Amino acid sequence: MPLIETDLAVIGAGIIGSSCAFHAARRGLRVALIDARQPTRGTSGECDGYVAISSKKPGLVMEMAAASKRMYPEVCAALRIDPQYHPTGGLMILEDEETFQSVAGHVEAVRGCGVPMTFLDRSRMLEAEPTLSPALFGAYEVPVEAVVNPYRMTLALADAARAAGAVAHWETRPLGFELEGKRIKAMDTTAGRVVAQHYVFSAGIWSRALGAMVGIDLPVAPRRGELVVTERCKGMVKRYLQSARYLTAKGKPDEVATTADPLMRLGHGFCLEWTPEGNCMMGSSRAFVGYDRRTTPWGVAAIVQEAIRYVPALARVNILRSFSGLRPFVPDGKPIIGRSGLVENVIVATGHEGDGICLSQITGEIVADLAQGRAPRLDVSPLTPDRFGAMTAEKRAEAGAFEAA
Ligand SMILES: Cc1cc2nc3c(=O)[nH]c(=O)nc-3n(C[C@H](O)[C@H](O)[C@H](O)COP(=O)(O)OP(=O)(O)OC[C@H]3O[C@@H](n4cnc5c(N)ncnc54)[C@H](O)[C@@H]3O)c2cc1C
Repeated sequence: MPLIETDLAVIGAGIIGSSCAFHAARRGLRVALIDARQPTRGTSGECDGYVAISSKKPGLVMEMAAASKRMYPEVCAALRIDPQYHPTGGLMILEDEETFQSVAGHVEAVRGCGVPMTFLDRSRMLEAEPTLSPALFGAYEVPVEAVVNPYRMTLALADAARAAGAVAHWETRPLGFELEGKRIKAMDTTAGRVVAQHYVFSAGIWSRALGAMVGIDLPVAPRRGELVVTERCKGMVKRYLQSARYLTAKGKPDEVATTADPLMRLGHGFCLEWTPEGNCMMGSSRAFVGYDRRTTPWGVAAIVQEAIRYVPALARVNILRSFSGLRPFVPDGKPIIGRSGLVENVIVATGHEGDGICLSQITGEIVADLAQGRAPRLDVSPLTPDRFGAMTAEKRAEAGAFEAA
């Protein structure tokens, strides 16, 4: 059996694992980047790519988003594949005055992160984006936000990691771990035995099954989101659009489960971007349906109807396709990032729900810092994997297993 000796074994090469590999490899660490399939076969290949700060949970996650966004231009300049990063800015759309009042505290938190958010009343909103419906109340403009093609960004990071010396092992998965005290001594994989200083667990929605293999509980659950793509046509908007109601759909799963509002029951929060190729991509829903990646007629219908309500001219455009992805959801709404106290050479980087594209850069930097024994620039102790404790027999039954399909 071949022996792979390395500083860092990164398990899961979606945007998070690829970013961890890139940031570590460019600092000179020896990295093995391992994926059971290929980098874009997980959620990072089935999503849209808003690099947003204004939709994040106030506090540490919002600070991380602001830091990650600031890193993006420099990281993109170091890539060999163009990730189609465009600092278009975003608009948070306010449906009515009540919504305007309800987001006041949130807007204050965004501004507290040093991110400008300018209120545009209806006429200024229509000056900025003339195709928006005049029935809307207004919008907040967030000029520093950006969009990136998440598929290309993931591939570009994996490629850049390899250019910096990381070794990729695709179609490779762990079969078992040999533990010695509170450390992993070795990992047996389908490609051979791996002996690493640190093991990064970045397996997205499959992180719970991976953690279970060494007795750590990482309660990441799949939360489906549907998206609809139109045919190519002349762009109708310049910025990324997101409704303020999106904040409720994303951040208040209990409210979504019990509300009488049919749109909110689908976890619907309007968002829309025009891709560089000329397709309009719009979304999205939020639902806990296990690993089911099918789209639904009611989800697609709600997305299209809402999009037309916000941008009426879309009624004249053909739909090309719909697809869905599974967000890695964590019950307390925060990603899981940090060293495990249970297995000391495991560093966890997962559970980014709808924020993984945005948070990928700061996550990669933090993991590289932890692997080098440096203190990250932000105190990420509230994101520790230890907040969920050890894996028990009861919890193990819920963890499932990695599905290659
Ligand atoms: C509809 C939708 C819209 C979204 N929009 C945005 C957005 O606008 N902005 C934003 O920031 N985020 C957005 N997201 C969220 C974002 O897509 C995710 O947070 C991110 O892609 C998660 O990346 P990941 O690397 O953790 O997971 P993945 O991309 O799923 O990568 C995990 C990888 O691990 C591998 N793996 C799993 N188990 C094993 C194992 N045992 N051994 C080896 N390999 C394994 C898998 O094959 C996979 O390649 C959206 C998500 C969805 C679904």
